[in-house]
Amino acid sequence: MNTIATTPPAAGTASAAVDARALVEIRRVRKSFGAHQVLRDVSLAVPEGTVTVLLGPSGSGKSTLLRCINHLESIDGGRILVDGELIGYRQAGHTTHEMTPRQIARQRRDIGMVFQKFNLFPHLTALENITEAPVGIAGVPRAKAKARARELLDRVGLADFAGHYPSQLSGGQQQRVAIARALAMDPKLMLFDEPTSALDPELVGDVLDVMRELANDGMTMIVVTHEIGFARGVADQVVFMDGGVVVEAGPPGEVLDRPQRQRTRNFLESVR
Ligand code: ADP
Ligand code: MG
Repeated sequence: MNTIATTPPAAGTASAAVDARALVEIRRVRKSFGAHQVLRDVSLAVPEGTVTVLLGPSGSGKSTLLRCINHLESIDGGRILVDGELIGYRQAGHTTHEMTPRQIARQRRDIGMVFQKFNLFPHLTALENITEAPVGIAGVPRAKAKARARELLDRVGLADFAGHYPSQLSGGQQQRVAIARALAMDPKLMLFDEPTSALDPELVGDVLDVMRELANDGMTMIVVTHEIGFARGVADQVVFMDGGVVVEAGPPGEVLDRPQRQRTRNFLESVR
């Protein structure tokens, strides 16, 4: 079981990542769909300002885990804390902890999510896609939200595309708008679920560059991706999941280059 940052490091062995406070703590999380147990006691900690890459075969529970962090699914057991606040509905061994819709909405605002399919509103321009939530949900004045959206478009390399509709943008450009849209709510945490899997190969690099810059700026990120080069260059922690469990976790140099488990080795062979 992965224990990075959940146990105090022994003197002299602390890495930079372990010293940081955990922004996300996942403890023994369980989740089933009917009789199918998809997450089996998953534990993992994500220190603030670090990048965790989640790897694993299709069906291993990666998307479900991300969705549980962002309230898109409830959990059956264990606990998830983001910034010290309980996200899950249940505290292990204690009474059920229901949150009000208002509390859930507030927590979700702090978490940006980017999906494989960009999910932009087709009838809104790039700029309008980005201002939609700040204006509609957070009550930011429209002029202020627009100015911020332009900054964000510039940051993702799309300063000249504010007035374009999604259908006028490439997949890579749409995904960069989706990233800007998530950033517009000033999240503490960004979740990426295979953000480049739906893109033509030549468009992948621009999206990964934006994510790399975001990481360099100190954003806490959990990224599901099969881009091993990205994991190697950007991740502080690589987590390999299979069959609803964390098989192996650690720095990329260990998990990617010296995997301890056969299941990890087999998977890495298959994606290289
Ligand atoms: P991954 O993202 O690693 O490919 P998922 O988390 O999407 O894996 O899925 C894990 C397992 O849970 C799969 O077997 C999938 O079919 C199942 N699953 C995911 N979502 C649902 C759902 N809403 N209802 C029933 N089964 C689901
Ligand atoms: Mg998935």
